[in-house]
Amino acid sequence: MKPKVAIIGAGISGLTTAYYMRDAADCVIFESQDEPGGTMRSSREQGYVMEWGPNGFLTNKPYTLELVRDLGCEERLLRSSDSARKRYVFSAGRLHRLPEKPLEFFLSDLLSLPGRLRVLAEPFAPAAPPGRDESVAEFASRRLGKEAMQKLIEPMAAGVFAGNADELSLQSCFPRIRELETLYGGLVKALFALRKKKPEVSAAPGGALTSFDTGVQALIEVLAARLSGNLRLNTRVETIERREGRYAIQGEAFDSVVVAAPAHAAGRMLRGLDAGLAEDLDRIPYAPIAVVALGFDANAFQRPLDGFGFLVPRQEGRRILGALWDSSVFPGRSPQGKALIRVMVGGARQPELARLREKELVALVREELKITMGLSAEPELSRVFFQERGIPQYLVGHSRLLERLEKRLAAYPGLRLNSNAYRGVSLNDCCRESQLTARRLFSI
Ligand SMILES: Cc1cc2nc3c(=O)[nH]c(=O)nc-3n(C[C@H](O)[C@H](O)[C@H](O)COP(=O)(O)OP(=O)(O)OC[C@H]3O[C@@H](n4cnc5c(N)ncnc54)[C@H](O)[C@@H]3O)c2cc1C
Repeated sequence: MKPKVAIIGAGISGLTTAYYMRDAADCVIFESQDEPGGTMRSSREQGYVMEWGPNGFLTNKPYTLELVRDLGCEERLLRSSDSARKRYVFSAGRLHRLPEKPLEFFLSDLLSLPGRLRVLAEPFAPAAPPGRDESVAEFASRRLGKEAMQKLIEPMAAGVFAGNADELSLQSCFPRIRELETLYGGLVKALFALRKKKPEVSAAPGGALTSFDTGVQALIEVLAARLSGNLRLNTRVETIERREGRYAIQGEAFDSVVVAAPAHAAGRMLRGLDAGLAEDLDRIPYAPIAVVALGFDANAFQRPLDGFGFLVPRQEGRRILGALWDSSVFPGRSPQGKALIRVMVGGARQPELARLREKELVALVREELKITMGLSAEPELSRVFFQERGIPQYLVGHSRLLERLEKRLAAYPGLRLNSNAYRGVSLNDCCRESQLTARRLFSI
């Protein structure tokens, strides 16, 4: 008989874990909501396809693609348009194209001349302080200077984590950047060394942004269809108990448990079993985020929506984190002659703004789009997707916290934590960790 495994949470992490262990175990997936997918939802309305959260994954890491190939649904993949590589930053009253290549960087006036010269001095920056978990802002200021930190790196941290660069841990949030410093002694040196190996390497995120024909939820639907016999929707797990060497959940006994729910939910379930474990799980905070989707007539724009969208540095004092030009990134996200923009509000930077009422949020976003993009037209459609606990924050000290969690978990054989709260928030990271979780439990 196969071992019985409970998987708690049917977001991408829970479903992918269940999928990879399907031949080795009998899985039951418990999901509190009436639909699987967690953050990965796509709404279709009036011909618009609006993502609640992620709009795709990058192909520079293989994990999501591997899953898609394994599922045999490659024909559903949708590659972003080439112009989506263009990204913008709002600074000093206008959008600046984010430079990708060294020459473009020196010709761009996004940074002042002293700011650009300071970046030039990056190879001579002091080495990382030994044994310290630096914040993203500390790292960027040390290597690239304060201005580059404020205009390039801080907005990137807000774009990926909706977080504050002075609180987020570089090692935990952007391990590759830290690795490049360690391996090559600096970022410029790393860039040149990597370009020697692969001439197309640039400072922009690698790989192609990729989604699915009907939005990211398509992947969830394919996974859920494969696992439909194992999925229990509308079933919130309150506690996980240990009885006679097995785990008791909802009155059933399991040999192993994978908690693929957010860290705060995991903490609640595990409090009775191990109060220390629950306390550490509670230490992983989440940033609230509101995604405001707006549909416009394509003629409403003063400028072409020729790119991915833009980010807004904190020092600009604006009330949005950035905007994604979704209908320019993927074909079919808006009806012919229309355009879809999604604007991110809140995050750790301005959590109170994410919690505004829908009407206030739409009004705020319209005011901000007027200032940042010169867009004053009335949208023909507006929707708000709000998540109080949107994105986990890997604060300075996160890796120590993970070590403590691992030590505590060692006392509970077969109990695993696997969600975006621990080792990466991207869909690729979630797929990688899910594959590893299945492998570690069953040596697959
Ligand atoms: C606005 C936004 C934009 C993003 N953009 C991108 C992007 O473009 N690219 C990218 O790669 N990533 C992006 N991400 C990140 C990515 O979407 C998430 O990290 C990923 O979807 C998280 O998946 P998960 O399964 O770990 O967690 P979740 O999706 O949070 O799933 C957890 C599941 O557990 C369930 N659950 C909770 N408590 C219980 C309980 N007690 N019992 C049973 N079930 C429970 C929940 O209902 C949920 O379904 C974005 C995230 C957000 C919020």
